[in-house]
Amino acid sequence: MSSPALTATIDLDAIAHNVGVLRAASGTDILAVVKADAYGHGAVPVARTVIAAGATELGVAHISEALALRAAGVDAHVTSWLHTTGSDFAAAIAAGIDIAVSSQRQLDAVIAAARVMGSPATVTAKIDSGLNRSGIGEETWDDVAVSLAKADAEGSIRVRAVMSHLARGDEPDHPLNSAQAERTDAAAALLTRLGVATPLIHLANSPAVLTRPDLARDLVRPGIALYGRTPVPAIGDFGLIPAMTLTAEVALVKRIAAGQGVSYNHTWTAPVDTTIAVLPAGYADGVPRALSGRLQVLINDRLFDGVGRVCMDQLVVDLGPDGGGVAEGDRAELFGTGAAGGPTARDWAEAVDTIDYEIVSGVGGRVVRQYVGGVGG
Ligand SMILES: *Cc1c(COP(=O)(O)O)cnc(C)c1O
Repeated sequence: MSSPALTATIDLDAIAHNVGVLRAASGTDILAVVKADAYGHGAVPVARTVIAAGATELGVAHISEALALRAAGVDAHVTSWLHTTGSDFAAAIAAGIDIAVSSQRQLDAVIAAARVMGSPATVTAKIDSGLNRSGIGEETWDDVAVSLAKADAEGSIRVRAVMSHLARGDEPDHPLNSAQAERTDAAAALLTRLGVATPLIHLANSPAVLTRPDLARDLVRPGIALYGRTPVPAIGDFGLIPAMTLTAEVALVKRIAAGQGVSYNHTWTAPVDTTIAVLPAGYADGVPRALSGRLQVLINDRLFDGVGRVCMDQLVVDLGPDGGGVAEGDRAELFGTGAAGGPTARDWAEAVDTIDYEIVSGVGGRVVRQYVGGVGG
């Protein structure tokens, strides 16, 4: 295996294991969420892996993401749920993408595209049951349901599913979760009363899959947990295995004297004569600049402190007066499973007051993805 400057190693066997954890927790079929390049892990290899591991279908935000999966030969059922006025519904219909609509306008555009194409669109009704983000708003739902049923009866669309998204899935005991489930069930029941063949229902995201099996319906829709990250760290990790390890080669090792400042604005000054290492990883690669002076890296099983500002392309590590036995060409682990005592994406997230979703999906395009295990490599 070659050794690029900066690598995100993706353990596909970990992802397959996590699919098993989620299936056991929910007792339900899995719609695996692979949007945003599978949260930075690589949509195509992850899609192949999760389907081989027993997930039954896939979900993405944009139609362009679904089309990219098709272009790579992924033929599993794919639902796409975030559209704009320029979204190419005709291309989605041609590629057999399930289009989740959030409004009457989107539905009308899908029906028009289906008529032009001369083939029915597969449609999911995305219900806003309380998140107040995407989804068909409550006041409009009755009318949109009538339109859905009419288009379904005419044959321009086939309504396959009703989906909704939880606002407080990571607060398992919050009453809104059950309320959203009831509203989603009621929406599906209305479609059935209007003559639509009983639609599938799905609303559980990762935290709900793991903590609220009673909210599983025909499918569950986990994202982050597939990648081995617990969405409810206070409750547990559920045996999930983090799939991404971010490593960088030590590009440069050199001595600096006591009193010398390091990196932009010299926010860190060497207290003694010491040795520093330059790593080719910066905020353009997904290392938050806010981690300046607040991160550690693992090199040859030893932890070293990051010092000074994280720059766009580089960061600096203090190896100590003796250089820590580190040589140019050694590999530094920025985050990984944490199993060997190294930092994790959650450590980074906590240090900069965010969630590890943002850390892994922010790993940049310059970082070379390498795959181990699985079927997608
Ligand atoms: C991103 C997303 C998910 C997955 O959420 P996780 O918290 O990562 O499990 C599920 N459904 C929708 C609509 C989403 O946008």
